[in-house]
Amino acid sequence: MADTRSQVREWVAYLAEMGVPELTAQHAPEPRRPAAQPESKPAQQPAKPPEAARDGHTPSQHAAGLELIRGELGECKRCKLHAGRKNIVFGVGAPAADLMFIGEGPGADEDERGEPFVGRAGRKLDDMIASIGLERSQVYIANVVKCRPPRNRDPEPDEIETCSPFLLRQIEAVRPRVIVTLGSPATKTLLQTTTGITKLRGNWHEFRGIPVMPTFHPAYLLRAYTKENRLRVWNDLKAARQRMEDGT
Ligand code: URA
Repeated sequence: MADTRSQVREWVAYLAEMGVPELTAQHAPEPRRPAAQPESKPAQQPAKPPEAARDGHTPSQHAAGLELIRGELGECKRCKLHAGRKNIVFGVGAPAADLMFIGEGPGADEDERGEPFVGRAGRKLDDMIASIGLERSQVYIANVVKCRPPRNRDPEPDEIETCSPFLLRQIEAVRPRVIVTLGSPATKTLLQTTTGITKLRGNWHEFRGIPVMPTFHPAYLLRAYTKENRLRVWNDLKAARQRMEDGT
């Protein structure tokens, strides 16, 4: 409960910062709530209900698919990035998420913890996710490359070529309804384009039948922290959430 309250507070603060003039119910997509738990266990446990399937697969099957890919990645030394890494940063979140975020590659904090988007940009991404009524645990987050590029430079073409097949397989395993690419390297990799993010963001694209909404990377947003950019990102994310709900 305290958690929900602080999330609502954070979200309202985010909207206020965005310059949203009034906060009415229509601005706030209902956060998804876990099903209510019974107060106490019934004497006899009913049979476990079957897992709800999406696209013919249960969440356990999505999870098993991701585990298989992680296993095949192993202690990867396929490209030069392995030399400087502490941890492989595979991905995090709900294996059967409707919404997937894709960044470019781990930074120092992510390398340290082995989890994507846990540093300053990660906290901004959490805010972005909260601004559309979702929690980090409800989406899936991965990067184009799984090891930290030195000095946080952009991943190089040979590194992307070597590592991105694992990302593409992660997408197939999660099979999200909607993908949001964060920044240029992720967008260019997924859409196989050389067009810059400023032109691509805000418009729908497609990857293997999955709608893709490119938006600014949270690190860029922190650098260019204007009201216009914040609104652009928020609009992109709202469109993604809407498309996810529509299921089209
Ligand atoms: N930037 C990214 O693109 N990915 C991360 O995991 C962290 C920062």
